[in-house]
Amino acid sequence: MQTMDNFNFAGQKAFVRVDFNVPLDEKFNITDDTRIRAAIPTLKKIIADGGSLIIGSHLGRPKGVDAKFSLQHILPRVSELLGTHVDFADDCLGQQAIEKSASLQPGQVLLLENLRFYAAEEGKPRGLAEDVTDEEKAAAKKTVKAEQKEMAKQLASYATVYVNDAFGTAHRAHASTAIIADFFDESHKLFGYLMQNEIDAVEKVLKNTVRPFTAIMGGSKVSSKIDIIENLLTKVDNLIVAGGMTYTFVKALGGTVGDSICELDKLDLALSLLQKAKDNNVNLILAVDCRIGDKFSNDANIKVVPVNQIPDGWEGMDIGPETEKKFAEVIEASKTILWNGPTGVFEFDNFSNGSRAVGMAIVRATEKGAFSLVGGGDSVACVNKFDIADKMSYVSTGGGALLEFIEGKELPGIKAIRGY
Ligand code: AMP
Repeated sequence: MQTMDNFNFAGQKAFVRVDFNVPLDEKFNITDDTRIRAAIPTLKKIIADGGSLIIGSHLGRPKGVDAKFSLQHILPRVSELLGTHVDFADDCLGQQAIEKSASLQPGQVLLLENLRFYAAEEGKPRGLAEDVTDEEKAAAKKTVKAEQKEMAKQLASYATVYVNDAFGTAHRAHASTAIIADFFDESHKLFGYLMQNEIDAVEKVLKNTVRPFTAIMGGSKVSSKIDIIENLLTKVDNLIVAGGMTYTFVKALGGTVGDSICELDKLDLALSLLQKAKDNNVNLILAVDCRIGDKFSNDANIKVVPVNQIPDGWEGMDIGPETEKKFAEVIEASKTILWNGPTGVFEFDNFSNGSRAVGMAIVRATEKGAFSLVGGGDSVACVNKFDIADKMSYVSTGGGALLEFIEGKELPGIKAIRGY
């Protein structure tokens, strides 16, 4: 398989699928350019080799052509970060894109307009009336699938080599993330640096695991984390369950959870996960105490109570100090650590202690040689809030893609290039 380091882009035209789906404020200023920065090493290597670049991305979730979601908004920043002029094609499939990509010279860069202005990118029909029949739905789906193939073919025709550096969309079988790869032979499709780093980090954790392996699963609901927890229960030595999920487990075990977030229809599931942990010799660790509040607010009155004795009118908002110690001991004795999801409502400073304590324990373990992978939306916000992102071994840029990867699912964007 080709890699960024062994592929020489001299004289090649590279179509690079990136994830430039950055947040914008109401004046269309970029509020966080992390995703653009993350793709720069790949883009720079191609230019430095003497290749030319055609960059494709989506931005937001447009329902069609919509100036709000134009990649024009980010063009200046891309140019600034790349340190070179970047040309723009205002329709990724238009005549302009065809002509501009055809005339690109080595070292030149072209950014295409939002790929998702076309429904064909996602391969899903848009704007179907509510009363369409199943047959009409199926026909519309078939049409858009055919259009998706055509779109992939046209995008591929702009270039001589395909590079996928969009880990954030690797779990989508879109025209530019997966289907396009069929139009390049084995030696002309490869992962960008970011994508490769993400794959390496997850495989280091899940496949080439150095033990003990501890996963910390936080966040709000068990229901959104079932598949991950089930997969991890076949891999980890320790599974720390924290965050809002805690209270579903506590309730299932007969505790009193007051007004805490709790999924009553998932009590049996919680018990079966506890049993599965036992069967697999996994140490499933729950909080023993928690910080409770009398309202869902940073200004709530706060008490620390045993996790299974939460009075009515109060809700569990974070783990307590005893639990912080208990979790930290396990984390610090680990050699591989995966962290997804905060231990509490970390957005409120008064309930961010637990997440900070877990973060700091991971920092200490990492300093002692453990490999730590942090990922999935809110955990990244967490490490940024506590200013410890650079002390983790790897902070993933992927949300849904990372979670599906950890669940053990095949990701179309990855499979399209390496075959599995
Ligand atoms: P997720 O997207 O599932 O990882 O959930 C992250 C969210 O879970 C964050 O916004 C947290 O505020 C929230 N969360 C964590 N612990 C709790 C809790 N005890 N009660 C309510 N929400 C929580």
